[in-house]
Amino acid sequence: MKAEIIAVGTELLLGQVVNTNATFLSEQLADLGMEVYYQTVVGDNRNRLEELLNLADKRSDLIVLCGGLGPTEDDLTKEVVARHVGKSLVQDPKGYQILLHFFENSQRVMTENNLQQALTIQDSITLQNPNGLAVGSLYQGEKSTYLLLPGPPSELKPMFRQNAVPELQKVFPTEEKLYSTVLRFYGIGESQLVTDLADLIDGQTNPTIAPYAKENEVTLRITVKTGDENEAEKLLKELEQKILQRVGEFFYGYGDDNSLAKVVVDLLRAHGKTVTAAESLTAGMFQSTLGSISGVSEVFPGGLVTYSPKLKIALLGVKEETIEKYGVVSEECAKEMAVNSLALGQTDFALSFTGVAGPDELEGQAAGTVWIGLAKRDGQVEARCYHFNRNRQYVQQSAVMKGLDLIRR
Ligand code: ATP
Ligand code: MG
Repeated sequence: MKAEIIAVGTELLLGQVVNTNATFLSEQLADLGMEVYYQTVVGDNRNRLEELLNLADKRSDLIVLCGGLGPTEDDLTKEVVARHVGKSLVQDPKGYQILLHFFENSQRVMTENNLQQALTIQDSITLQNPNGLAVGSLYQGEKSTYLLLPGPPSELKPMFRQNAVPELQKVFPTEEKLYSTVLRFYGIGESQLVTDLADLIDGQTNPTIAPYAKENEVTLRITVKTGDENEAEKLLKELEQKILQRVGEFFYGYGDDNSLAKVVVDLLRAHGKTVTAAESLTAGMFQSTLGSISGVSEVFPGGLVTYSPKLKIALLGVKEETIEKYGVVSEECAKEMAVNSLALGQTDFALSFTGVAGPDELEGQAAGTVWIGLAKRDGQVEARCYHFNRNRQYVQQSAVMKGLDLIRR
């Protein structure tokens, strides 16, 4: 069963709109066990869309089109697909009633164009639009099946989930489904991870392992295709264990929507511990990263941002002599910041960040030099120096991630 996605819209080709519908549809179709082999974008142009349909017919069982169902001149998807399959467009009675009601209620005049939105392909299944006016269609042709969805994601998503999925499952009953686990790593680069797992990655066909690198972290998606949920769970667990035996040291959590900050907040909550921070070069980024996680107030009373030496002295109580003697980019300053911040916040942990975000050097130290201090309630205090060599944003973000990792460990 091969599927493909055609996004229709000149705005996509011009780069004005990001093709998020394709991302959504690919993910959803994969979950249904339907493999997407192609994604294409085509402008609002009859001939080019027709050309693409001729090609898609030859290679795909399911052709999902999105965009161009609306009332304007450039919305031509329905018309082109209908002509392509040799059918006419007919009015959907329910869609028409909804359209009438909408214009009555909003006291607007319905134009001739608006009627287009209630049109569906003859002999197709009409998909109502829970969030808009243009109806969708599912047309089962002799060789290929065509699914037409509206462009706005707020309309496409509910129409797909609520109305298209049940119909698709009837047309393509499938035993096998895709199951996957996402493993997240911090502190190891993608190339190192891939090298460490090379034989596993190369040798696996079911499950498969797909690495994905973002700034400062790597995720691995392991996916298995099977008709048996228990088997899926067993295969995924087995492979996960093999992976973690090798690189478990860097593993911090599961799932697409997870983050190091979330894991840290959850850990602190689970252990009833609290954290504060005194930030210089990160200028509050650590605290705002924590602040983006729900439930953080239980573990984070707040902290300080002391960018200038003056405020480090006035607000944090760092000793003037420390700064004079060692500078602010120093182990001594980082430690004092952490210790004083712990005392202020009355927390279990306090982190401090002081360094050179760049691009210019500071106190004769290169951009990217960062000291991170960690003080604990039992009196332990340490500070370590890191070198994050890239642009300013990367230096700050790396410092924040490193700080989170220090708390986690
Ligand atoms: P409408 O009735 O709103 O005109 P439509 O089905 O005709 O809907 P389009 O005119 O193609 O859809 O697109 C409407 C809007 O939907 C676009 O301006 C864009 O913001 C969004 N959109 C369209 N296609 C995509 C896509 N592939 N990914 C994300 N957003 C999209
Ligand atoms: Mg439109």
